[in-house]
Amino acid sequence: TAPLLEMRRVVKHFPANGGMVRAVDDVSLQVAPGETLGLVGESGCGKSTLARLVMRLFPPSDGSILFDGTDLTTADRAAVAEYRSGLQMVFQDPFASLNPRETIGRILEQPLVVHRRGGRAERRDRVNALLERVGLRPEIAARYPHELSGGQRQRVGIARALILHPRMIVCDEAVSALDVSVRAQVLNLLLELRAELGLAALFISHDLAVVRHMSDRVAVMYLGEVVEQADRDSLWDRPLHPYTRALIAATPSTSPAARRRERLMLQGDLPSPIDPPRGCRFHPRCPLAQPRCREEAPALRRVGATEVACHLA
Ligand code: SF4
Ligand code: MG
Repeated sequence: TAPLLEMRRVVKHFPANGGMVRAVDDVSLQVAPGETLGLVGESGCGKSTLARLVMRLFPPSDGSILFDGTDLTTADRAAVAEYRSGLQMVFQDPFASLNPRETIGRILEQPLVVHRRGGRAERRDRVNALLERVGLRPEIAARYPHELSGGQRQRVGIARALILHPRMIVCDEAVSALDVSVRAQVLNLLLELRAELGLAALFISHDLAVVRHMSDRVAVMYLGEVVEQADRDSLWDRPLHPYTRALIAATPSTSPAARRRERLMLQGDLPSPIDPPRGCRFHPRCPLAQPRCREEAPALRRVGATEVACHLA
């Protein structure tokens, strides 16, 4: 099947004091219809910039982004408007993303008004049905965001993302702000909705355990680049990149000894994306680094079912 979302050699540079931040550097990714691609990496690796590029909140510096075959970097306004309703975002902080002066019902109805979908009664029905579907009582529609718990607000955030019947959602740290006890409920709601609605998703998190739970395939980002990409189980069972191994070892399911070892490896700050290390960007932190790694950047290449950028893989 043709990909629903395709990023081709996408670059995003921002001017910053003293140079350019290479936030996203030559990234190519695909998401098939109904598929969830997980994107994992430490904060500052470019995940959120990538999400914003996909949402078209700003244009790429280079490369192209296609949704359902339409190149959004060159598309006209009508195509972009169509694309916007087909692709919706669930934000990290549900409170910051909801207008505090509007009721939940009004917040949810607004996209339908903007996109001229249905009459008043129809819109109300859609809002109520969706509230119910995300596990909220219809009375919530009369409430304001501050009257809701964090979990309820994120359910509203999800309902808002779904109100226009999108084909794909982008979730950027969608459960990171929630209490651990609420997190699993919201993740499972997302899984159910994905299956029920045949939704594709780009699921972004710094937490590999969460990404593993949610994704069919996983891409690992480091300093603006994708360093490994594979189906979920291959990535988890046979990680090829030392950075992926470190991320896996840092998850709670690993033995404490291995976790200590790997945490040591991930110690130290992420190098600055303004002036990233020469050669392999991971070399200052890599226990396997060779002289070659300091000079020569490893290209992403296929090894079995995996794509990996490491000279030793
Ligand atoms: Fe480590 Fe070298 Fe592989 Fe980079 S290319 S991850 S420095 S072994
Ligand atoms: Mg982020």
